[in-house]
Amino acid sequence: MSDLLHIGDFSYELLKLKFKDLGMSSFVAGQVYDWYYKKFNFNIEEWSNISKGNRLKLSQHFSTKTPKIIWTGVSVDGTRKFLTQMADGQSVETVAIPAPGRLTLCISSQVGCAIGCTFCHTGTQGLKRHLKTHEIVGQFLAVSRYLIDEVHPDERLSNIVYMGQGEPLHNFENVKISAEIFLEPKGLGLGQRRVTLSTSGLVPQIKRLEEFPAVNIAISLHSARNDVRTELMPINKVYDLERLFDAIREIPLKAHRHITYEYLLIEDLNDTLEDVEALARLLPLKESKINLIPFNEYPDSKYKRPSNNRIQWFMDQMIRKGFVCTVRSTKGHDILAACGQLKSEYEKLNVWNKDKIQSITNGMTL
Ligand code: SAH
Ligand code: SF4
Repeated sequence: MSDLLHIGDFSYELLKLKFKDLGMSSFVAGQVYDWYYKKFNFNIEEWSNISKGNRLKLSQHFSTKTPKIIWTGVSVDGTRKFLTQMADGQSVETVAIPAPGRLTLCISSQVGCAIGCTFCHTGTQGLKRHLKTHEIVGQFLAVSRYLIDEVHPDERLSNIVYMGQGEPLHNFENVKISAEIFLEPKGLGLGQRRVTLSTSGLVPQIKRLEEFPAVNIAISLHSARNDVRTELMPINKVYDLERLFDAIREIPLKAHRHITYEYLLIEDLNDTLEDVEALARLLPLKESKINLIPFNEYPDSKYKRPSNNRIQWFMDQMIRKGFVCTVRSTKGHDILAACGQLKSEYEKLNVWNKDKIQSITNGMTL
């Protein structure tokens, strides 16, 4: 069993090549993609338009298994959190977040994370292992199947963010192929604008982004000051702001249009006037979008979330300086869900100005 290949590890192009080796035509690759990624049918036996001989060959060489959903919770706001378990027993979080006109899946790329950001619960656990391509794509497939079977036959995911556990660019090859599968018209066929990759700033891999399909890029910045950023993200010791922005300038913007900068807001650490000024100096106005993320406190976390007034003030300052700036509204508080460690602050937002919340929610990037 263990030396089986996995269908979900192959981009369409690679699958056609592999099939050629195995004496199957590229037409069969198209049929397989159709069953697997369009019909969400993972049972080779049921792929009825493929000849018996080829089905036998497929089952002799390939596994089609998706991760198992071992726990699921739904929030009053419609956010669904899934615990998805891999074949070796490791599990990761996957979260489906509804917004007007879309349903975004926040997927994990690793079990744990090696980057060790001081504000991140995943980061404190260290890296257990990379996820394989079929385990990354499999989160999408398993949740899609669940939604069709348990929620509504027409319920479909529309967007992907690589913002669950792990640093996607640390797992470059597997994440790259997963993005190709998400975009492949013969496969999941999501548009470029519907897939967003978030990175903590791995400079050598950012320089290789031209090898990636053209997806949206989000950079976890969190501070425009080297000393503060190093305190939050040890990676800044090696890849400081200067090196990071040298690499970002090389990203072919034609394909990416703009870069989103994620900026975690932490009380008295990176939410002052000095931080506003530094951020405005650092970011190129035209190509940047800023997404403010109020820090989400968790038991024993050493940082605090700023007050709603302070968050509002920070956003207003950036908007006044001409930036596109939104605040990420966090969802799923009653099931402790959302991307990474983003447990909800929804109730706190609710005691805030209602109209403001509306405009913020509509403008959020998720
Ligand atoms: N490793 C990648 C992607 C996964 S983390 C990255 O860091 O970009 C996804 C987002 O969750 C990051 O922007 C991160 O800053 C945020 N995050 C992590 N812990 C958080 C917390 N306690 N509160 C709010 N956001 C958090
Ligand atoms: Fe890893 Fe991202 Fe968490 Fe940093 S914020 S530890 S890079 S998952």
